[in-house]
Amino acid sequence: MIFADIELKINTKNGNEILLLKRQPKEYKHTILIIGVMHGDEPDGEYLINRYLQDRNDTQNRLLFIPCLNPDGKKLKTRKNANGVDLNRNFPTKNWLKTDSNDDYFGGETPASETETRFLIYVLEKYKPDLIVTLHEPYKIVNFDGPAKTFAQKISDITGYKVAENIGYPTPGSFGTYCGIERNIPTITLELPENENKEILWNTNKGLFNFISCEQVF
Ligand SMILES: [Zn+2]
Repeated sequence: MIFADIELKINTKNGNEILLLKRQPKEYKHTILIIGVMHGDEPDGEYLINRYLQDRNDTQNRLLFIPCLNPDGKKLKTRKNANGVDLNRNFPTKNWLKTDSNDDYFGGETPASETETRFLIYVLEKYKPDLIVTLHEPYKIVNFDGPAKTFAQKISDITGYKVAENIGYPTPGSFGTYCGIERNIPTITLELPENENKEILWNTNKGLFNFISCEQVF
């Protein structure tokens, strides 16, 4: 049982659903967006979001969740979506790059060619989040783009994962570049460990959800 409102729902190429869930207090000043499974073979973000939503916790901020942005990839157990596109290289940034379609990080035939990418852009434009957290695997670090250094440090204190300003390789067309660098929205890329025991994973990261529920975050 999930305690959240279904705000939006769309179907992917393979007929799977992407949900936007919402928890909204009567009054709020800020909106935070949390995204899981941008890469289909990184399932633990969805696990954490759903686990958090199993309880009726209060929040002072409007919280929006996309538990699984890439349900086709999740079913196929692939990083990329059903069209073989890495969604985290498909955003229409200034540095978007056309690469070979066999490339592991293929960013699509054109920027924002993918339904999943366009859905996320729509959510950004409609709800204007003040902070974004995307949940990836497997590096066990807190990466950030845009004016998010203070948030990153706090999340590092909570999780024990180190802050890494640079992930170590170029990421043209990435979500972090699109939101953080080009639109100045604080954007956290939380890299969870891979194949972690679920109880340990939850106990390590549950503080993140308490953190984003408090108005004092800002
Ligand atoms: Zn990832």
